Order: sequence, then C-alpha cells, then structure tokens
Amino acid sequence: MRKVSLAWKMIIGIATGILFALLFKEYVPYIEWMGTVFLRVLKMIMIPLVLSSLITGVSSISSAGSLGRIGLKTIGYYFLTSMLAVITGMLLINIFHPGTGANLSLTGAPVISDLNAFSVKDTLVSIVPENIFSSIAEGEMLPVIFTALFFGFFITRLQEKQRILLTDFFASIFELTMKVTLFIMKLAPLGIFGLVAKLVSQQHDVAELFQRLGIYMLLVIGALFIHAMITLPSILLLIGRINPLKHYGAMSTPLITAFSTASSNAALPLTMEAVKNRAGVSNKITSFTLPLGATINMDGTALFEVVAALFIAQVYGLDLSAGQQFQMALTALLASIGAAGIPMAGLVMMAIVLSVVGLPIEAVGLILAVDPILDMCRTTVNVLSDSCGAVVIAKSEGEILKV
Ligand code: ASP
Repeated sequence: MRKVSLAWKMIIGIATGILFALLFKEYVPYIEWMGTVFLRVLKMIMIPLVLSSLITGVSSISSAGSLGRIGLKTIGYYFLTSMLAVITGMLLINIFHPGTGANLSLTGAPVISDLNAFSVKDTLVSIVPENIFSSIAEGEMLPVIFTALFFGFFITRLQEKQRILLTDFFASIFELTMKVTLFIMKLAPLGIFGLVAKLVSQQHDVAELFQRLGIYMLLVIGALFIHAMITLPSILLLIGRINPLKHYGAMSTPLITAFSTASSNAALPLTMEAVKNRAGVSNKITSFTLPLGATINMDGTALFEVVAALFIAQVYGLDLSAGQQFQMALTALLASIGAAGIPMAGLVMMAIVLSVVGLPIEAVGLILAVDPILDMCRTTVNVLSDSCGAVVIAKSEGEILKV
C-alpha cells in the first residue's frame, strides 16, 4: 500500500475539521484540545530552537567576513521582498478603491490619534535585553535573537577548549529540538483538525461577512497570491536558478502548518526541517536565516498592513497624498518587522500604520471580523518568503540543493 504523505494527511485534517464543525458544532469543545496541545508543543520548543539554532548558525559561520556577507544578503533579501509585497498591495488598492463610498456604519468622524504613541527609538532599544532569562520566559523574540547573535559571535572568539565545548553543547540542543520536531510533525494532522474545527465553529455568518468586507478580503488575498505566485517564484528563478514548483512542493508541510496555525513561530520547526532535509540547505544557513526570518521577514504582513490601512483611510473618506502613502508604506514595512510571529500580531501593529495619517486605533474594528482568515493567508506568505530566502542565499553561497 502506498504511504499517504504528511501534506495529504494535513489537508485531510483541514477538510475533516471543517466538516466536523459544520455537522457537529456542539461537540467541537470535546476535540478542540487537540489543536491546543499541538500549538503548545510547538511553542514549547520554539525558544530552545531559536536560541540553539541561531547560536549554532552564527558560530559555524566562523569568520566575521562571511558572517557579514551572509548577514547582508539575508537582510537585503528581507528588505527587497517585503518592499515588493508592499508595492503590490499599494498598486491593487489604488486601482480598485474597495473602501471608497463604502457604507460600513461608521461611528463619528475620525479622532486624531496620538502620533507619538509609537517610537522607533524605544522599539530599537528594547531589542537589547536587560535580563536574558526574563526575555526567554516572556517569549520576547527580538531580545532572544539579539542574545543568540551576540553569544554565537563571541563563542568563535573563545579559546579552543571552551569554543568546542559550547559549540558542541548548542549543536546538540539544536539536534534535539529537530528530533522533537520530527515527532511533533506526526501529530500535525490531528492538531490541525482540532484548530480548524474550532475556528470554523466560531464563525457566525460567513455570508454576511463576505458581503460587507468581501472586496477588501479578495483584494488582500489577491495581492498575497500575486506575491506568492509571481514575485517570489521570479526571485527563485532569476536570482536562485531554482525551480519554484519543486521548492513549493518541498515546503508543503510548513506552509499548511502556517496556514492552519496563523503563526510563523509555530511553523518554524517544520520550516527548518523542510528547508534542511527536503530542500537540502546546509545547517549553517538554515539555522541562521530561518529563525531571523520568522520574526523579522513578514512579506504577507507588510502587504496586509498597507492594504488594510489604505482601505480604512478610503472608508473614512481621507484622500491621501502620494507622500502620505509613501510614509504609510515605510511604516507598514517597519510594523511587519516589529510584528511577532503569532496569530493576529499584524492587526495589533495596525495602530502604528494608522497613526501616520492620524486615523484612530478603533478603526481596526472595521476589519476585525475577517482578520482570522486573512491572518492564515498572510502567515503562509510570510513562511513561504522565509523559505525562499534560505534557498536563494544557500545557492548564492555555492550550495548544491535538492530542489
Ligand atoms: N500571524 C502572522 C505570523 O505569524 C503575523 C501577523 O499577524 O501578521 O506570521
């Protein structure tokens, strides 16, 4: 008998989750724990994984010169793809104007919100942890990443005995987390079944949602689709000389996980497994680029931020100048870097983007209802872009890949 692949089992998990919620809504509370447990085990290994993989990654790129080179390529790729995503979103929203003239029963005129609420300076400063252990306990990704980069670099500056001891130690933890990941993957179809059943059972009236916010939703999904099916494949082909179809096939497990958990962090262990074992990227590049990407490279979120903010501006009847739109685009990019890889993080960051043109934070309420679906779609694009970055960078470093 042919073995059913994991991706198919996960798709069956989604389908049965939807059916279960539609047919036996009252029994959903009895099975939703499967999704909760799945999310909890993914979160459980997240911090050990990020710490050990980044330390291992940075310390194995031993010379400062090649660390700088790979680091620059990684940041360059993140910036380029996020910017392209923002441009795609801006083009579509300016062509279709889904918010203009929309009658969405707004309460009152826009209240000008506090422009100083978000400070770039404070955000940058808070990346440096005051106490590593409290950052780890709170799951604050940027400080954890900062610590890992710092330690990883200085491990290479130690005397041989200590250097070998510490690199072996962190490499062993990293191997351990990857082993746990392989086990968790087996649970994924059941976890996804529970997550999807819960989500579907919570939706009240899908038809009504679609009527009111349908065009906005379709526009976000359409723009994400263009980014995933045209922009990223072009980068794979032109810069990486990589076959996009093969790459996307190899990434099916993390992509389905990203879609059903709406969390880049939750998908991270599976993304690393797929990039390493199925695409054949070296440990060094996998463990350096992916944990970084899961936190700071969010093409889908950047695109969503700008489309949602301009949609809200249109609904409020604001006519934004090109300069204001440009400022919004840049802020959307920053917001996507600052957004955590967890469900709905992008929605929270909307407050910052809206403040650029003085729109009130409450306006987020407009798009709240449809956000769970958009969150699933944008997270999938976030993870896809991280995986494309890893293979393109590996290829540029002369690695021979399996895709
Ligand atoms: N859920 C997204 C992620 O984890 C972030 C967002 O809300 O946009 O990538």
